[in-house]
Amino acid sequence: MNRSILLNPGPVTLSDRVRQALLRGDWCHREPEFAELTLDIRRRLVEVYPEASPDYEAILLTGSGTCAVEAMLSSLIPPQGKALVVCNGVYGERMAAMITAHGKAIATVVSAWLDPIDLVAIEQILTHDPAITHVVAVHHETTTGRLNNIAALGQLCQRWGVALLLDTVSSFGAEAIDFGGWNLEACAATANKCLHGVPGLAFVLVKRTSMETHDSAAGSLYLNLHRYYQEQIQGFSPFTQAVQVAFALQEALKELQDKGGWQARHLHYQTLAHQIRRGLHHLGFNLLLTERELSASLTSFKLLPRISYVQLHDQLKQAGFTIYAGQGGLKNDIFRIANMGDIFDEDVERLLTCFHRIGKNASHTSSI
Ligand SMILES: *Cc1c(COP(=O)(O)O)cnc(C)c1O
Repeated sequence: MNRSILLNPGPVTLSDRVRQALLRGDWCHREPEFAELTLDIRRRLVEVYPEASPDYEAILLTGSGTCAVEAMLSSLIPPQGKALVVCNGVYGERMAAMITAHGKAIATVVSAWLDPIDLVAIEQILTHDPAITHVVAVHHETTTGRLNNIAALGQLCQRWGVALLLDTVSSFGAEAIDFGGWNLEACAATANKCLHGVPGLAFVLVKRTSMETHDSAAGSLYLNLHRYYQEQIQGFSPFTQAVQVAFALQEALKELQDKGGWQARHLHYQTLAHQIRRGLHHLGFNLLLTERELSASLTSFKLLPRISYVQLHDQLKQAGFTIYAGQGGLKNDIFRIANMGDIFDEDVERLLTCFHRIGKNASHTSSI
């Protein structure tokens, strides 16, 4: 029996090691053993990028990636602050919607989903609008698979002295994040994408000085990072945490470390992504973006006219593979294949064999 393989960008295919960790037991989140577990996870999270560990604190939240993103934006942009939100996909647009919902001042630089972020327009706004306190952007824009040029954006943030808040939900643990060079105040991510944990816990890595010196700006009680920080210094949390999900996250972080850390994971993803891109190229599928624009963890392919997304999805699903549709305006044009999770080259070989069979059947049917 083959394993079923998730090729959507989270939740991911689990390793047995992580799945087994879910069964460790029934614990109360207010007992010292859970506090110890929380402290261990928080330490491991800041050590995924060792250069982050002296200056950043990890704050754990029960919720999905969006929960951590919203906690970051609601807690760190002060009521009198102003955010410049950079959008070239669903997740940038979602952050702009959050800031608007919180009633905070906002400017946006919106690019088409297929375009890179507009650094010229960003610099112009930073030059002309001294009210901007924060730049808000997505590292890996999962809508298309583009790894945004945060190195250049971070340089602008350094130069203009504005803090950067980053959605690293689909990059944390597998792509380079320059904690020293981007004027990065915080980044938000989740247990269940590149870290290979179970959905249900998310986290924000935030500069310790922001937690110690700024009073909470939070327009939310439940998502107030300052409140979590005050208690998580001791390992406790204001509200019930997802205990079993925390077991799995700790195991996933140990596994990441045992396998060589984020750089090794990046290389592994890169190898799988190349194998997928090469294989599907041979079968006639074209990339939505150029290879050098893409992250290591996800690829968007253009659909072929002779086979719809639903047909492709359903046939692959029967064979044990779950692929992912395009969003919004790309819904009928593309499909996405993520290679996060406990996936290996033999899984990709099997996937490519299925694609080959589906392609042959489709061309056979359409020629009748
Ligand atoms: C998946 C994803 C999110 C949202 O995560 P949820 O866990 O679905 O809330 C946010 N941003 C990016 C870039 C993502 O890929």
